Amino acid sequence: MMCDGSLLSVRCSNCGKCCEKTEMELSREDIERLEEAGFRREEFAVLDGGVTRLRNVDGWCYFYSLADTKCRVYRKRPLGCYLYPVVHLVNEGAIVDELCPMGQTISEQELRTKGKILDKLLKEIDNERACDMLNY
Ligand code: SF4
Ligand code: SF4
Repeated sequence: MMCDGSLLSVRCSNCGKCCEKTEMELSREDIERLEEAGFRREEFAVLDGGVTRLRNVDGWCYFYSLADTKCRVYRKRPLGCYLYPVVHLVNEGAIVDELCPMGQTISEQELRTKGKILDKLLKEIDNERACDMLNY
């Protein structure tokens, strides 16, 4: 999750690591929210094995501003970005991504809470993929 100056979280160092070479999955709701904000799906997203992910441009998320070192859609960012640095590992479940230098500030309680939301999100994305495949 990238932190916007106006909403600066004391727990984010604004390093931008999580916005570089992103593989963030998008739910239908994420996509619609970003489209409503005026962005075009074909510009900000890519289809990867049936899953829609954020597109990278020159190695950075489409929405990351290198000039300002921040997310251009912070208030409308994908839910997965909001939940970061809590991520899901196959066979392990929710963990704190070691890539984030502020990961140690995530409490056990926050990990559990965000982990539950993340599980729900990933199931939702799986269901949406299954529905899309049935529609082909
Ligand atoms: S949407 Fe924003 S927070 Fe999420 S990866 Fe892109 S730039 Fe970073
Ligand atoms: S990797 Fe962590 S500290 Fe760096 S921008 Fe993302 S959330 Fe903030």
